[in-house]
Amino acid sequence: MSDAAPIAAIATAPGRGGIGVVRVSGTGLAGLMQAVLGRALAPRHATYGPFLGADGSAIDHGIALHFPAPHSYTGEDVLELQGHGGPVVMQLLLRRVLEAGASIGLRLADPGEFTQRAFLNDKLDLAQAEAVADLIDASTEQAARSATRSLSGVFSQKVHALVDELIDLRMLVEATLDFPEEEIDFLQAADALGRLARVREQLAGVLAEARQGALLREGLNVVLVGEPNVGKSSLLNALAGAEVAIVTPIAGTTRDRVAQAIQIEGVPINVIDTAGLRDTEDEVERIGIARTWAEAEKADVVLHLLEAGQGGDGGGGDRAIGARESSNGAGESAGGAGETAAATGESAVEAGLARRLRPGVPVLRVFNKIDLHGGQPRVEGPAGGQPERLWLSARSGEGIDLLRRELLALAGWQGAGESTFIARERHLVALRAAAGHCEMAAVHGEHGNQRLDLFAEELRLAQERLGEITGAFTADDLLGVIFGRFCIGK
Ligand code: GDP
Repeated sequence: MSDAAPIAAIATAPGRGGIGVVRVSGTGLAGLMQAVLGRALAPRHATYGPFLGADGSAIDHGIALHFPAPHSYTGEDVLELQGHGGPVVMQLLLRRVLEAGASIGLRLADPGEFTQRAFLNDKLDLAQAEAVADLIDASTEQAARSATRSLSGVFSQKVHALVDELIDLRMLVEATLDFPEEEIDFLQAADALGRLARVREQLAGVLAEARQGALLREGLNVVLVGEPNVGKSSLLNALAGAEVAIVTPIAGTTRDRVAQAIQIEGVPINVIDTAGLRDTEDEVERIGIARTWAEAEKADVVLHLLEAGQGGDGGGGDRAIGARESSNGAGESAGGAGETAAATGESAVEAGLARRLRPGVPVLRVFNKIDLHGGQPRVEGPAGGQPERLWLSARSGEGIDLLRRELLALAGWQGAGESTFIARERHLVALRAAAGHCEMAAVHGEHGNQRLDLFAEELRLAQERLGEITGAFTADDLLGVIFGRFCIGK
């Protein structure tokens, strides 16, 4: 992505804070330190003093730290200037540093470039580098703890253990490839198939853990739909309760008044309380409804809220939502409001959902206000063309825990343990592909010596896919995508 010129950036968040940090990484920083600090720094010692402008006057006073290569975050020489955390003083300091470093080609860092250098200098592998960003972006305590585990190498070690097993197995098989005329079945003699079976078992275990880790990272988009006044906002509040997530200012979540970040057992859940879906002439409301449908398209789970005792929960009169696969994708660009005009009420919601949802997205039909009708909180599984149904009261809170558990179950959450590590979709893809190659290897293995070469090739491919996780095999453009999503200064 970039050259090896020294880089600089403000490493702390924009805005005002007690301390702000300007970070520099590269080689040949001695002159820069002399110019800005007026002295050389002892390695890894905090040195207090003025940060000097070009005219020798102080821009700020603060702490300077020098981490000579290779014992630094990036593996290069690193200089950190910790001054007062104001946006103007930080900009002045950054400008001064860039100007003083112009002769060594110092430039502004790209997003994630410090961490990318750490990766390129073998300070971190790729899964760990990703965990740095995931730790910074973590929206729940559980996600942050899991990111720390990945950063300290828990995930990478599991991947390495699998790779080591595969390498052993490959060495064994490739050695036997040189003696094709041997009578004995090498795979059997060396218990290669037994070993492969154990690798596959381990791989399945890591994949299951990674799935949990990915849930902690990606969270779950839960979209609340339903007619006005069925209690969508009340349900959102009831769900949020005390478990409102540590909200990060990511556009479209906290700033957007219809979405709220909550957590259930540490799984970040983005609940999108949509505009009530109804036919309307009001332009603003129409826009809200169009956005509702746009949200529904991104949903991982849809809660279709209805009022208990209004006929829909008695069995008759409900429409199945099963038609959505066939009609999904049609009329995507037509806009939401207009489409609801032809139909009214519940059927309009159902018809809209049928068109908009991605295939396989579960719809949970939730009957609210059971307190008015004396019903019991309960859940009934999908049966007889009916989607899953749940009865609760947003007002009394009865059934809310049931809904929480149901949401986690629909997401495939099995609980986090002391060893849960954070993971990304990219990792799941690689793990699944590796599992697929191991499966193929097992099929070839059944044919004994005849397919040894294919057996070996599948093991090689499995190893390669696992290597993508830690960055042992990674295309440059992928690196660009991964590090480009970091914040500047990290
Ligand atoms: P929304 O338009 O779907 O967001 O609905 P609101 O959450 O604004 O609720 C509409 C009305 O229903 C309000 O007067 C709520 O107090 C009431 N409501 C919501 N949930 C319940 C419930 O569980 N029981 C009862 N009795 N009333 C509820």
